[in-house]
Amino acid sequence: ATVIVLLTTSSIYGVSFVMPIGGADMPVVISLFNALTGLAVAFEGYAIGNTAMIVAGTVVGSAGTLLTLLMAKAMNRSLANVLFSGFGQDHGAQIESGGEMKEIDATDVSVMMAYADQVVIVPGYGMAVAQAQHKVWEMAKLLKSRGVSVKFAIHPVAGRMPGHMNVLLAEAGVPYDDIFDMEDINPEFGKTQVSLVIGANDVVNPAARDDPSSEIYGMPILDVDESDNVIVIKRGRGAGFSGIENRLFFGDNTRMLFGDAQAMAGELIASLKEL
Ligand code: NDP
Repeated sequence: ATVIVLLTTSSIYGVSFVMPIGGADMPVVISLFNALTGLAVAFEGYAIGNTAMIVAGTVVGSAGTLLTLLMAKAMNRSLANVLFSGFGQDHGAQIESGGEMKEIDATDVSVMMAYADQVVIVPGYGMAVAQAQHKVWEMAKLLKSRGVSVKFAIHPVAGRMPGHMNVLLAEAGVPYDDIFDMEDINPEFGKTQVSLVIGANDVVNPAARDDPSSEIYGMPILDVDESDNVIVIKRGRGAGFSGIENRLFFGDNTRMLFGDAQAMAGELIASLKEL
C-alpha cells in the first residue's frame, strides 16, 4: 500500500512540477531529469552495495548535469529560472500572424543560389524528420562547384537532441570546415545573399530577439533575417517545438518553398543541374 501511495503522490508531484514549464525550456528539463536518473541509480547502487551501479550512475549523473548547464547557458536562461519561473504560462500579447507568406518555386531558388556569392544553410528538426541531409549536401556540392561559398549554420538546440544537426551533417559527409556555430556565423548573415532554412523554425524566430512577450524571448537565435534573401523549406504552416508563430516567414525578404525537405532538396538538385 505504501508503495502505491508513494507512486501516486510522486507522479502527481512530477506532472504538476513539469506542466508549467513550457516551450523552449523543455530540452533543459529533459536533460536535467536524465541526469537525475543517473544519480538515482548511483544511490541505489550504494544502497544495495553494487559498485558497477554507483560508477555508471555517477557517470550518467555528472555528464547529464554538465549537459543541462551547457544547454541552459545556450538558451540564455539560468537553471532556477527554467524550473521555477512558471514560464510559458502567461502568454501576454499573442503575436499576430501578420501578412501573407510569399511562395517561391525550386527553379527560382536554384537560380538565386547559383548566382550568390554566399549561401548559408540552416538545418533544423524538419531536415532530420525528412532525412534530407544527404540530398542537402549533394545540393551544396553543386553550388560549391559553381564557386558559391556555402556554409552550414548550427544552432545549439536545433533538432531534438544536443548535437543532432552535427551528427546528421557528419553522416552525410559535410566537412567540419563548412560547419559553423551560432556565434561564428551570426556576423556573416549581413554579407550573405541567400539563407536557406531547412525545416528549422524556433531557432530562427526573431521574436526571441525583440518580443519580450514571446515564450522564447532571450534565447539567442541565428540572425538569418539579416541576409538579403531568406528561403524557408517546410511543409506548411506547422509551428516548431515551442508552438509559436514565426514572424520571419512573413518577412519582406522571405520566400517559402513549401514541401518535404528531402523532396525539395531533390528538386533543387535537379534544377541546379539544368542551369
Ligand atoms: P522546430 O521544431 O522549431 O521546427 C521544425 C519545423 O520543421 C516545423 O516548423 C515543421 O514545419 C518543419 N518540418 C517538419 N517536418 C518536416 C519535413 N519533413 N520537411 C520539411 N519541414 C519539416 O525546429 P528547430 O530545429 O528550429 O528548433 C528546435 C526546437 O526543439 C527548439 O525549440 C528547441 O528548444 C527544441 N528542443 C531541442 C532539443 C535539443 O537538444 N536540440 C531537445 C528538445 C527540444 P511544417 O510542419 O510546416 O513542415
